[in-house]
This record gives sequence, structure tokens and C-alpha cells, in this order.
Amino acid sequence: MDRLTVFRKRIEATSVIAKKSTRHRRNGNLTEIQTRYLEEIQVLARKGGLPESEWKSITKYDRQVCYELDCLESALEIMAATNFTVDPCESSTWAGIRNDSNGFLFALAILEDRSGLHENDFLWNEAKNHYYQCKHKARADDQDVKDIMSYTEQYGNWPILTNRDPGEVFNWLEMVADLNRFERPGFSPYLLKVVVPEFMKELGPIEFNIGRAVVHVSTNDLQKMLTLVQQKIGRNKPVRIDQIPAMVTFMASVSGSTVVQEKATLMSIAEFQNKTDTYMSDQNITMNVNWLNFFTRVFRGSESIKVSPELKINVSFSPIMNVISSVNTFQQSNDKKDTWAIANILHFQLVSLLLQESTVLLDDMNSFRCVELSGDRSEICLARVKDVFGYALGATYVKTYYDDRKTTPAIKILMNDIKESYIDVIDKTKWMKNTTREFLKDKIRSIKTVIGYPKWIKKPKQLQEFFHGLELSPLKNSSYPKNYIAVNTWRVAKRRSWSHKYSNITAWKGFPLYDVEWNHYSATVQAQYHKAINEARIEAGVLQAPIFGINRPGINAICFVRFMNFGGLGMVIAHEVGHSFDIIGRMFNKDGESDKEYWDEESLTKYFEWVKEIAEQYGTEPYGVSETSAETVDPWKTINEDIADILAVYISYHSYQTYLKNLEAKGEKEKILPGLQRFSPQKLFYMKYANMWCDNKDVQSKFRDLLSDHSSGNTRATLPLKYSKQFARAFECKLLTS
Ligand SMILES: [Zn+2]
Repeated sequence: MDRLTVFRKRIEATSVIAKKSTRHRRNGNLTEIQTRYLEEIQVLARKGGLPESEWKSITKYDRQVCYELDCLESALEIMAATNFTVDPCESSTWAGIRNDSNGFLFALAILEDRSGLHENDFLWNEAKNHYYQCKHKARADDQDVKDIMSYTEQYGNWPILTNRDPGEVFNWLEMVADLNRFERPGFSPYLLKVVVPEFMKELGPIEFNIGRAVVHVSTNDLQKMLTLVQQKIGRNKPVRIDQIPAMVTFMASVSGSTVVQEKATLMSIAEFQNKTDTYMSDQNITMNVNWLNFFTRVFRGSESIKVSPELKINVSFSPIMNVISSVNTFQQSNDKKDTWAIANILHFQLVSLLLQESTVLLDDMNSFRCVELSGDRSEICLARVKDVFGYALGATYVKTYYDDRKTTPAIKILMNDIKESYIDVIDKTKWMKNTTREFLKDKIRSIKTVIGYPKWIKKPKQLQEFFHGLELSPLKNSSYPKNYIAVNTWRVAKRRSWSHKYSNITAWKGFPLYDVEWNHYSATVQAQYHKAINEARIEAGVLQAPIFGINRPGINAICFVRFMNFGGLGMVIAHEVGHSFDIIGRMFNKDGESDKEYWDEESLTKYFEWVKEIAEQYGTEPYGVSETSAETVDPWKTINEDIADILAVYISYHSYQTYLKNLEAKGEKEKILPGLQRFSPQKLFYMKYANMWCDNKDVQSKFRDLLSDHSSGNTRATLPLKYSKQFARAFECKLLTS
């Protein structure tokens, strides 16, 4: 934990006092909590290299300085992130570390809350327990194995452990259907696979194809795993390793027959059944294959997918028939090891999936290592919890951290300021012809802004309706495998239903994103602009420190230390609006149509000259990806983000300047922060901006940045300022010309 976090935690512990006692007393006596803040600010200022003459007086009362909580918090943030010894005109990394507040931490804060505040929130206890059980998967391994094995009894005997026939209840196609109700990274159901195209990624009909042909496990690991299972369930029977060769032969047979490549054909389930029946009778296959039953089973709980003989599916027919043939051949064999092979493999796939999820028993085995989720367990589990409980946790988040009455109007004002600045700047852009200018102004004015979260998540009934069918225990000592199965099958069914419902969208118009996205978690630190609907969305998650502050005293509707908000959130909003000017965004009109060219030729030529200039600037930025090499990014890959960044800093600063002028006209001034008296509000705006983006990343993360369509944080922090006249003026630098 960094120093700032430790300090905040300590302060939080006494937050009741903090809230009551931050207003300074008239006689200049500072309260205990204010003094604690100032001491911390002082330590950080010293560390950041602020001259002694300046840090020494931080703890002494100064009539000019603002000591309200928001000012102290703002000063703390700036001090923690700034290296005062670098020359902003020279150095390319003139602000230090980036702040640590993000959606990950906030989601975690909600789940780890012990105040009892959320006890009655919908699904909060369940989400919390799911996170806990996922994170501590080693917690009850012995019991988990027993629970898993009792769950799989519904599929009959597992021959390799019992040396008994799988029995009447075993139906290979039903078990394959059930495996298709599981989703986990690295997992693909054996033999046959159903895919519902994911909304926002691809659209189209349901696909049916062959699944995984080979289950990769070494004989050694297979024996180890099976022996462990026998032990844990207390069954004193040998693992029938003599059944392994038949399993291997079966897999070879399936994988050999699935090499057939075929373009999928769209057909109804009835047509598919007919074709299958014909194929089977031609091949003398007497097995019972009922596709209607199969798909009904796969899509149980996916309300919007109406399984009927008429349902159209994109089928890879021949490969699927080859699988049927292989299964048939083995089931017809006179050797029971052959007839048991398929049950052995299907059981293995299901049991190993559940063991990997809920125990650590397989973690050391090589066969499972490469398919096991790697990375920080907290992050894996948190991502899962967000994906499953998104709306419910989002409701708790906005209830706790989001103030509808204050924040929403404040963001509307800020958005309006930004729009006005864009319009002002467009008006002053000499190279633009009138027709294009009017077109753009109209488009900016028409941008719709969605703020915070989808409103319906605050309605308990609708929330309950969304989560209908999800049944799991909130108790710590409940069975994790059982809870996992409940969560996973609910999520898969519900999500498929969700995706399918919107699989026919050909035009975005009239579909507010909030309504069509899956389980969107509103605490995500994110803002977006959607060209095709001319809509900007500012998530509740982005409306928090260090990007934005609202729940603090001040003279305005919006948080009063405005440079913090203009340098932070203002820039973010201006960036999103800026996407309407990027090389793709500019092609759309205010209604999201892009059927013709809306710009005049002359303005377009000038626009591309400007874009080219930006690309040249970014194209020369070296990325230090290792100690010995520096690469430059392909500027045309990041160009849309770069355009949005360049515009964002310019416009947000323009808005802030306008704000300062208005303040001055009213005889007011921006507040002065402890230790930062020397810095003009203009300078502080840029310092705040840079703080948001500067980062100290490791080589791997830097390389990942290099591959992304955003420029790296450090480039975002510095490049838009390097060529900025406004910045040069604020810091009295000589202007670089490209
Ligand atoms: Zn962007």
C-alpha cells in the first residue's frame, strides 16, 4: 500500500470527526484532523522536492489558504503525485506516480465492507460470499470433492472409478448438452459445442459445431487425479487404469474424424433432425439422437431463445455426423472398455473443471496448469463477481458513492461548459468553411449525455426480475462447487438469452446502450462516446476521486477546487466529445448516420493536414519498453485516441479559463491550497491533468500499452502539452514547433 492509501485509511477510521471538524476556526486555530492532513501534505511535499521555504510553512495557518476537506484532499493528491524538482519545460516526465483509485478498489471496498451498511442490499451477501469462496478456493477441499462427486451422480457411474456400467441414467448427448452450460476461460465442451454469438462482438444465428476433440491430460496426472478423488470420497477401490487406452483410442477416433472442414449451413432444428435421421439410417446407426431435446436442455433458462422445431441454427453438419459415427462405433463395441470410454471422458471433463474451480488439488499438475486461470486470484474473482452481480453491486455502489441530487446536475453543467467551449473553438477555427462549421456545432449541441448508471437498477422489483433464477447461498460454510454451478449456469443461460435478444440489431438507433449491455457494472471507471448514436456516457465509477469530487463543501454546485475537476473529469468528458472529431467519428452526423460526406472538401483537406501533424508528433515518441530498446508506436493505430486527447486538453483548459474569468467578474477567486500557493490555477490544471495519466509501469505493462489503441499513460500526460501554446504560456516555456 502506498503512503497516500495508508493515510486515507487512517483518516477514514476517524472519518466522523473528519467531516465535522474540517472547517477552520475564525481565529486560525486548526483542528486536529486538519493538522493531520497538513502534516501528511508536508511529508509528501518534502518527498516531492518542494523547496524548504515552501514546505516548512504548510502546517502553519495562513488566512489565504483553504483548509476545507476538499482542499486538503486535493493538495494531498497533487503532493503525492508531483516531483517538484523537474522542469516542466524540459522534462517529459514532470509528474510522478499515478493515483491508485480505480473501479477495482472500489468494487473491492464494497465487498469487504464491514460496516453492516449493505447487509440488506439485494444479493450483496451472496456476491460477497461468492467472492470469498472463489478467492479462498483451498478452504474446504475434502468436502468440495464429495460435493462434486455427488453432483455428478446424476450422470450415472463413472466407470474408471467404479468398474461398473454407467447405467441407465447415463445419456452421452445429455451430458454433452450440460457441459455446454458451463463457461470458463480455457474450457471448451467435449464433442459438440453450441455458440450464441456475443452481443457487441458479433451478430448472427446460434452456431452448432464440433467441440473439443481431445482432452489434454497426461496419463500420469489422470491417475493422480483419480486416485485423489477415490481417497477424498473414502472409496477403497483401485483406479481402473486398464480403461485408459480405450479413452485414448476414442479421442483419436473423434479427432481424426473431425478434421473435415465445412461451411456451416443455416437450417431449422426440424431440418437438421431430418438430415440427421437420413444420415443415420444410411450408416445403419440406430442410436437415439433428438436435437430438439438437446437444444431444449442447452438453453434451459435462456428465456429469449425459444427452442422449437422452427428455430434456425447454423450447423456444421458433416463434422457433427462424424462425431455421431465415432460415438456409435464405440458404443456398439463388444469390449465394455470401449463402450465406457465416452462416459469416462465426459465425467473427467466435468469433474476436472469443478475441481479446478473449487479446489487446489490439481494446481500442481502440469496437465491442468496451462488451462488454469493465471493471475492474481483476487482480480480473477472480482472480475467474475462483477460479471455475475454487476447490476446488483452497481446498485449498492451508486447508493453509497453517488449523489443523484448533486452529481448529476453538476456533470450536466460541466458537459455543457465543455460543449460551449467546443462551439467557441469551432467558431474561431479560421480554416473551416461555414457549412462544415454549422454542421459540427449542430452535432456537438445534439450530443446526448447519459450520466451515472441505468436508472432501473434502483428499482428493487426490476433488479429482482433480472436476477430471477439465481439461487445460491450467502453462507460461508456452504458448498462452493454447488454455488459455483448455480452461478455459472444462471450466468450462461441469462447471458445467452440477453445476447440472443439483441442478435438481430442492424442499426444502433433507438437502443440506449444501458438497455442492451450485459450486467453492466456502474462502478467501472469509464466514459464513452458512441458515434452511431451520438451519445456520451459518463459512468458513476468515473465520478470519484481522483478524477472528480462532489461530496465536499464549496461555493458552487460543482466541487469548488475547479482545476481538479477540469484537469480531471473535464478532460475525460472533452476526450469523449473529441471522439466525434476523430477520423471515424467525423464521418457521422448528429443522428449517427454516415451515408454521405458531411464536410466540405476544403475543410476536409485542412482537417487531414492537422491529423497528419498529430500523427507525426506521436510517431516520434519513443516508448522505453526495455532498458536497451525504445520503440515508437505506429501513430495511425492510436490516432483516434490521440486526436481526442489533443482536443481534450485544449478544450477543457479553455473551459477552465472561461470559468476563471467568470469567477473574477464576480469578484471571486479559485481557492488556494496549502503548500501550493506559488502555483497559479492554470499551472495546477496541468499538474492535475498530468497526474491522471503519468504512470510507473513495468516493462511488460509498457509493452501491452504499445499494442493498445491508446497511447501510453506517459505519452498521454506529456505529448498534448509539448506542442500546446496554452501550456507554454502557463509555465513560461518556449513553444516547440513541429
Ligand atoms: Zn478514447
